[in-house]
Amino acid sequence: MTDVAIIGAGPAGLQAALTLGRMHRSVVVLDAGRYRNDRADAMHNLIGHDGQTPAAFRAAARAELARYDSVRFVAAEVGEVTGAAGGFRLSTGEGDHVASRVILATGMRDTLPDIPGIEAAFGSSVAHCPFCHGHEFAGRSVALIGPGPFLEHMSALMAPIASALVAFPRGGALDEGAARRLALRGTEIEPAPVLSARGDAEGIDLALEGGGSRRFGGALVQLATEPAAPHAARLGVERSELGAVLVDPFGRSSVPGVYAAGDVAQQRSMPAPMWAVWSAIATGAAAATGALQDIVAAEAAALERAVPA
Ligand SMILES: Cc1cc2nc3c(=O)[nH]c(=O)nc-3n(C[C@H](O)[C@H](O)[C@H](O)COP(=O)(O)OP(=O)(O)OC[C@H]3O[C@@H](n4cnc5c(N)ncnc54)[C@H](O)[C@@H]3O)c2cc1C
Repeated sequence: MTDVAIIGAGPAGLQAALTLGRMHRSVVVLDAGRYRNDRADAMHNLIGHDGQTPAAFRAAARAELARYDSVRFVAAEVGEVTGAAGGFRLSTGEGDHVASRVILATGMRDTLPDIPGIEAAFGSSVAHCPFCHGHEFAGRSVALIGPGPFLEHMSALMAPIASALVAFPRGGALDEGAARRLALRGTEIEPAPVLSARGDAEGIDLALEGGGSRRFGGALVQLATEPAAPHAARLGVERSELGAVLVDPFGRSSVPGVYAAGDVAQQRSMPAPMWAVWSAIATGAAAATGALQDIVAAEAAALERAVPA
């Protein structure tokens, strides 16, 4: 039986595989080939890799993992996961895999605001996270598109970076307090809804209700985000409101033998999941370490049973 099955080969799953491979534990990494940041021109806020494309990052990780004989990759979508610690069965169209422990590193998926043209520009002139792509809009005017709390948060983070900020409220009018706080930070409020967008290498044109249009150096939009895979829900692990798996510092979920890492995991002590590559890498290593600790403990118990003192 394989020691650990890792579902997902984004940064979290790749790092978990490295940690376990270096400890000579058998690992199968199952990958459906869909990565959350695949649409991004480049990856940022990861020391040593700032500006690298997500595909180049994954390729470098795979090349490193090829040095570890106990790590195996399978390109397959995992359907059902059944069983319990010591014997999980993962079904795929290419056959089943049996593993003692399972790490869920399946990530989240996003839905963009329903504005024609936004999807095509997402990852270049449209972004959602200032930590990832705010600096790329430095010195430019930036449109903020979303509900009040998002607009206020982005306005605060982007104020030192952008040359000007314009808020486009969606999902209801702004209350007086929010409008005042945006104004205090110098963020203009544009009440005309955005009808469509057209992005290019230098920025984005927004067509507005009423016939006008405005040009910006970039736009930040709020996404709707949900788990990319159903396994956590089906396994009955405890989850947050957003559907993230609640884990301890070693990635352990509420179900023994099931661990989670990356975007799909949330530390119980944190108010929200940390959706970033640095966090996916850190929690991937932590979940692999947790799984290894539990395997070692189970081995010790089995040895004691086999050879009683
Ligand atoms: C446009 C965009 C740009 C971003 N830019 C940055 C950035 O610059 N810097 C940064 O730190 N963060 C960035 N992020 C966030 C970053 O993408 C995530 O934090 C990171 O990818 C999380 O890694 P992960 O391994 O948890 O998930 P992912 O990278 O999403 O990987 C999920 C893995 O699970 C697999 N999977 C899912 N379901 C199944 C299944 N049923 N069977 C088998 N495999 C399955 C997928 O194939 C994939 O291998 C960005 C996000 C977006 C949307």
